Amino acid sequence: MRAAVCTPGRRDSVRVIDIDRPRCREGEALVRVHMAGVDGTDEDINAGLYGEAPEGCDFLVIGHEAVGIVEAVGAGVRCTRPGDAVVATVRRPCPGRCLNCRNHQPDFCITGDYLERGIKGLHGYMAEYYSESMDYLIGLPHELLDTGCLLEPLSVAEKGIFEAFRIQQRVLWEPRRALVLGAGPLGLLATFILRDMGLETYTLATRERGSIKARAAEASGARYIDVNAEPLDSLPKKYGQFDLIVDATGFSTFAFESMGLVNRNGIVCMAGLSPGKKEHSMPTDRINMEMVLNNKAAFGTVSASRRDFEKSVDRMLSIRKKWPGLMEKLFTKKESLVNAPRALRRDEEDIKAAVVVS
Ligand SMILES: [Zn+2]
Repeated sequence: MRAAVCTPGRRDSVRVIDIDRPRCREGEALVRVHMAGVDGTDEDINAGLYGEAPEGCDFLVIGHEAVGIVEAVGAGVRCTRPGDAVVATVRRPCPGRCLNCRNHQPDFCITGDYLERGIKGLHGYMAEYYSESMDYLIGLPHELLDTGCLLEPLSVAEKGIFEAFRIQQRVLWEPRRALVLGAGPLGLLATFILRDMGLETYTLATRERGSIKARAAEASGARYIDVNAEPLDSLPKKYGQFDLIVDATGFSTFAFESMGLVNRNGIVCMAGLSPGKKEHSMPTDRINMEMVLNNKAAFGTVSASRRDFEKSVDRMLSIRKKWPGLMEKLFTKKESLVNAPRALRRDEEDIKAAVVVS
């Protein structure tokens, strides 16, 4: 069968070759690919910046966004049958099966040794056929065949927004206004999700209003912002601040500047990778990339609630019991009330100054 392959590490090496059709083993389905999407990662792979061939193979079948039809099923497969439409997930557990991989969340793999079909150590889906375990196949109605290859990038946007809401369980939160940076596939899909959730959504990118991307965003009821006409820092005055911001550009200047636009108690979800841009001329580019690739979170916090105070009572009892005298040692300076100003002058070695009133 024909397959689009690359030689990892070699620039412009993507080519179509003939390879054996994969076999369909027990518990697996053989899938005839209907459509495979291309994204920035694929472009990076073809630029030689990314991609890893399966062990013992000198090429990698690319493609990780594909919808297809089940052609045949292996022994023991009962939950799907030939003719069903399916999309396969991308990431596979690390060989050592870390905590998260064991619990069906290889997207949170701790070791970094996970595999990814079409990207890292496993052949992808940009071929006539692939076979896959039922564990990783998602069924979808036939009417979604023509957009099914967007299921993967949609799932990435969905995850980011879901995670933002989960993190926001830290507080009573009723987000009303969202800002999406970027109007590529990820940005637009995020826009659609947010609109679907009923949020007032603004989608910002560098294209002019009236461009295809702008029109796609606005078709979902979002307001499109051309950042060249309306710079980031001008937005709060015009539109107010945003409860939830999703960066889908990977352009760290945007991602970091957007932190100045987020509302009180709000959250910024960094989801953008910058295709083809691996040099990271700015440290913020590297930080941005590492935060995205490693599911890292950053957030702000201030003051404390009654609950926090109450928890702290137990905490202090526990600390004092475990490490007698330790807390007391933090007071490196004690001044009487009259000498209060001295307490306010910090010496280099000071940890904690206190004014003893009586
Ligand atoms: Zn793992």
